[in-house]
Amino acid sequence: MTSFLITNIDYGLTGNREGDRLSGAIRVQDGRITDIGDLQPQEGERIVDASGCVVTPGLVNTHHHLFQSVLKAVPEGMNAPLDDWLMNVPYSYWPLIDEETLRISARIGLAELLLTGTTTVCDHHYVFSDRYDYDPANVLFEEAEALGIRFVLARGGGTKGRSFPDPSLPPSPSETLDAFLASIEQTASRWHDPSPTSSRRVAVAPTTPTFNLEAGDLPDIARFARSKGLRLHSHLSENRTYVDFTLAKYGKRPVHWLAEQEWLGPDVWFAHLVECDPDEVRLLAETGTGMAHCPQANARLGSGIAPADCLYQAGGHISLAVDGAGANEAADMGAALYSAFSLHRATKGVQAVRAETLLNWATEGGAKVLGFEEAGVLQPGMTADIAIFDISSPRNMGLHDPALAPVLTGAASLRHSFVGGRQIVRDGSIPGLDLAGLGADARRVTRQLMERRKDMLAPNRARAALA
Ligand SMILES: [Zn+2]
Repeated sequence: MTSFLITNIDYGLTGNREGDRLSGAIRVQDGRITDIGDLQPQEGERIVDASGCVVTPGLVNTHHHLFQSVLKAVPEGMNAPLDDWLMNVPYSYWPLIDEETLRISARIGLAELLLTGTTTVCDHHYVFSDRYDYDPANVLFEEAEALGIRFVLARGGGTKGRSFPDPSLPPSPSETLDAFLASIEQTASRWHDPSPTSSRRVAVAPTTPTFNLEAGDLPDIARFARSKGLRLHSHLSENRTYVDFTLAKYGKRPVHWLAEQEWLGPDVWFAHLVECDPDEVRLLAETGTGMAHCPQANARLGSGIAPADCLYQAGGHISLAVDGAGANEAADMGAALYSAFSLHRATKGVQAVRAETLLNWATEGGAKVLGFEEAGVLQPGMTADIAIFDISSPRNMGLHDPALAPVLTGAASLRHSFVGGRQIVRDGSIPGLDLAGLGADARRVTRQLMERRKDMLAPNRARAALA
């Protein structure tokens, strides 16, 4: 059932750059928006009543690490800056994540996203290893498909293992370049659908260009991706360490170095870009290279605030993202909207960003960055990815401009959402998902992980004591 009429819309935002409003009704036929405005129901048409709600495009999260949904509030990572956090959290736990743990972790993250209005997510999964007896890519696609969310797998990893001072840790997993590319090719041949309304895509996404690749691999990876019609993604300039690394090794700042490696363009987007100087911002804008702005994870890890507002004003492509829950326990797009709005204005003044601009980043901006040109804006002809937010809670009472509630209050709760006209959230719940059961599974696998980590440390501690 992908045809219906959303009626009684008093408050809505189209998601476009201008911040245009919408009201009345939205007609969806065969998964596509055909009309918006003062519309009357046709005979037999299914009605979705949006009275008292705010209607927006479904939110698009362009950078996540779903395996971290069972790595929230790890004590050794709570007060650690990025580099120590990486060692203490994802790189301490990745060898302990079995197939069931990844499955439940992904389900937790996807459920949170769905229930807060997200209809598209890109998961940057970067732990692929022959230590695993399962393929993480298959698990992630299967979990996303079961819940109906539009899903992009940014297939991470790299050719250089990153080592850490902790003797209990194996180096981060790495592959040869041939194995890395062959594995992506295999995943893409199974899952990648390039059609405009696709709900399954693959992107080529080494974990970082700096620490996870051998020098010289970058152009080969870019050419491989472009020859297959896959987009390119990675982490970049999340903190000062990235800048120091490329300055010391290549004599250039990261964005300038990547320009030489064929790694800029409208088919590339980077997570973070916190440490960018004005010249790098200009180059990103000129080349149409996208940003996945992760304000909460950057704040939680003390990395800073990315110049998303400057890149946007320069005509660049900005999207919003939550990043992994190991560095952002509130891994939902509603919280990200509110945080980004507050952080930019706190540091740069009230002119820095408008509420409508934030919604644009989280909708049209995200769809563009991921290459879904027919999603992200509510207008006739676009695919029907739609979120309907309930604003009946006390925090949302008394608003003079209720359309801004999903950004301004961070507390709009989702009533319904649709992906290509298919309903994926109904009356605030996910059809077919037993949330209480998921909670029990989450507690069990999280306890199990804590036990496994203790067991992993025990022999190393004994060795260290004897040395
Ligand atoms: Zn990340």
